[in-house]
Amino acid sequence: MRIGVLALQGAFIEHENVLARLGVQPVEVRLPEHLEGLDGLIIPGGESTTMGLLAQKWGLLEPLRAFARSGRPIWGTCAGMILLAKEVVDGVPGQPILGLMDITVRRNAFGRQVDSFETDLEIPALGDPPFHAVFIRAPVIERVAPGVEVLASLEDGTAVAVQQGRLLATAFHPELTGDVRFHRYFLRLAG
Ligand code: GLN
Repeated sequence: MRIGVLALQGAFIEHENVLARLGVQPVEVRLPEHLEGLDGLIIPGGESTTMGLLAQKWGLLEPLRAFARSGRPIWGTCAGMILLAKEVVDGVPGQPILGLMDITVRRNAFGRQVDSFETDLEIPALGDPPFHAVFIRAPVIERVAPGVEVLASLEDGTAVAVQQGRLLATAFHPELTGDVRFHRYFLRLAG
């Protein structure tokens, strides 16, 4: 299996390390031609405005949309989730996004001061035990269209992980905790 990791900016190496641990050779994607022959793609966390602008600059936006249209899975974590969303609240005006998932996300939803935290999430799709989730200046999902499945929510009901077909989005960073279950879940979508 060949899984790409968008390697323009942000926490791509951490995703590559988890994939390697699972026996999958990661492929760094920086140009449209790097998408060829991939079975799936991870868009990492980082800074969504910067990542979007770099993707635009390197001509990746339309090839990434075509990649999703071809039915191949994409998983966006944190900033990657923002790029996947159709609608971004509190984004930078005109920030380039892919607009692939029918969700509305709010950037930096937890504010500036208390901008990072960790919590355990019940995720039925992953089973027991709860998943330790790291949120770093994280967005939240404010609206999900019918047909988008909520995989995980905070205790107050805020959605933080969703799936629409073979598109997956998490507001937190599963590549940072050593728990590989989310990566396995994504590899099953890709396989
Ligand atoms: N706050 C960042 C953004 O808006 C996302 C943070 C992250 O990916 N950890 O792009």
